[in-house]
Amino acid sequence: MLTAQKIWSPTNLKEAWEIQNHIGIGEYCLVSGGTWLRTQWEANLREMSTNLISLEKIAEMQEVTEQLAFGKREIVIGAQVTLANCIESELMQTYLPSLVKACRRIAAPSIRNQATIGGNIYTAAGDTIPVFLIYEAKLRWFNGQTIETEPLEQWLITLQANQFKRDNRMLVGLTIEVEAQDDFSFFIKVGRRETFTASLVTVAGKGTVDNNGLFGSVLLAAGGGPVPARLSATELATCNRSGSTELFKSIYKSITTEFEATTDAFASAEYKKTVVANLLVSELFDRWEKNHLGGVTNVAGS
Ligand SMILES: Cc1cc2nc3c(=O)[nH]c(=O)nc-3n(C[C@H](O)[C@H](O)[C@H](O)COP(=O)(O)OP(=O)(O)OC[C@H]3O[C@@H](n4cnc5c(N)ncnc54)[C@H](O)[C@@H]3O)c2cc1C
Repeated sequence: MLTAQKIWSPTNLKEAWEIQNHIGIGEYCLVSGGTWLRTQWEANLREMSTNLISLEKIAEMQEVTEQLAFGKREIVIGAQVTLANCIESELMQTYLPSLVKACRRIAAPSIRNQATIGGNIYTAAGDTIPVFLIYEAKLRWFNGQTIETEPLEQWLITLQANQFKRDNRMLVGLTIEVEAQDDFSFFIKVGRRETFTASLVTVAGKGTVDNNGLFGSVLLAAGGGPVPARLSATELATCNRSGSTELFKSIYKSITTEFEATTDAFASAEYKKTVVANLLVSELFDRWEKNHLGGVTNVAGS
């Protein structure tokens, strides 16, 4: 039997909300770039809804802006901003180079022209999420009345606890505070081949290293588990500690204990834990060596 497809194109959040309510939960699907949805529909992993609500005409979801809130600089990224827009954005290149790197490592240019930040986050599996976690991004949701904010980390934890059941809020975008000056930030993706491939694991980190080799404000996150997650215990074990063989060994151990990896068709949880620990420790060691006295220190002797 043929089913008529209806495509809705609201031009603002209120209108989109009204359409949602009019159709009713379970009877519609929000579409941003549609790149993730397309793979789900084509692989028969999800049925195509008869009502597709396209978000592409909602102006307030399209921009990347900079604002001062309580004296702090924030970057506000609309959910409809594409991965290609992120790569080109001067604001992102200046304040969020790791995010630009993450976007560059997602799919091919043709996909990145359509794929959005909102869609990438909402899947709870997108490769940009570890970067947003280390920047302690706050999600902006429209609940029909107002815009409410929620830390991304909190949303991911709740989502997992609720068996990935989502409510009907619309993701408007996210905000990131960028005032603090970091000495380093990084993003690394490991896939099954070099380019245009889904990730096995992703890691992101940022922080400072002073002249005495002391780590400060270290934030770490990894993807490759049920949801991407911060590695808070490892962050705690790293901050205010000087680089040494013992420290790097203990960071490695802490990561393999803390990181909850999942086994999939291509890699075991144990393998992913080892890769994540290797990536993060070697990256921290590298940054420590470069920043600490210009990179002339021998770790064994420090
Ligand atoms: C060939 C190919 C390669 C890919 N490679 C990668 C990769 O390497 N890394 C990676 O992370 N992803 C990859 N993807 C997946 C996908 O392209 C990205 O995750 C993309 O960012 C999703 O954004 P989108 O706008 O297309 O989302 P959509 O497909 O439009 O939506 C994704 C989900 O989010 C919901 N949604 C979208 N916007 C909102 C909103 N504002 N509020 C509430 N719900 C919303 C939708 O209903 C849907 O459930 C790939 C896809 C393809 C086709």
